[in-house]
Amino acid sequence: MKPPLVVGNWKMHGTQSQAVALARDVRRGLRRSRKVQVVLTPPFTALAPVGKIVRGSSLCLAAQNIHWEEQGAFTGEISPEMLRELGCRFVIIGHSERRHIFGETDKTIARKLAACLRSGLRPILCVGETLEERIKGKTTRVITRQLRVALKGVVKGAIEKIEIAYEPVWAIGTGRNATPGQISRVHAMIRRRLKKLFGTRPAGQARILYGGSVRPENTGELASVKEVNGLLVGGASLKAKDFISIVAIFSRS
Ligand code: PEP
Repeated sequence: MKPPLVVGNWKMHGTQSQAVALARDVRRGLRRSRKVQVVLTPPFTALAPVGKIVRGSSLCLAAQNIHWEEQGAFTGEISPEMLRELGCRFVIIGHSERRHIFGETDKTIARKLAACLRSGLRPILCVGETLEERIKGKTTRVITRQLRVALKGVVKGAIEKIEIAYEPVWAIGTGRNATPGQISRVHAMIRRRLKKLFGTRPAGQARILYGGSVRPENTGELASVKEVNGLLVGGASLKAKDFISIVAIFSRS
């Protein structure tokens, strides 16, 4: 199995100079961390300078979004090649903020995911249910649909190049965590789906991360859930000290 993966999603926070300062602090603080793969996801405007800071370290660079075409009349969009040139290795796809605020659909997410794979970028595919869907007992149905559409057309071996992040929408930025039991059940369900779609061995290689109000205080509990192969961290990744603690706690678990 690959090492656990901890991803910091900085969302629309930080000017270039703030992002550079944060990336430097994280790099310094994680110098000795080898057991966990750590990914920083600054806003587009800070990818280039943060890319220079992570180069030569164990940190990796990721983008928060991508367009599926290589080039063209797509005002405001960023292509896979543009991201690769800046040193990106990962891209977050289908984050709930993109689905729910910007109206991204399962189909556009599938196109983005395919574009990542074509260009050698590793997609971090986010899936998760809203509170209403959970209350109505639709969690499995929703996540199964999100996975089925996004992964349609992905060839068997390619699942090893995809990371999945389970992020219950009601736990993102709210301070509410899913319980270890809820997380373990959903992660196991996702693993079963992947096995059905891609076969036992390749599906066993995909990392399934948890995201939703991860903090240093709850990292130990989350890391103890055996189905959790890493974390996607939003708010707490904006404070170097908290993010470094999260990585340290996860690597000790
Ligand atoms: C996220 O951005 O994916 C996220 C989980 O945010 P937060 O940790 O702030 O809930």
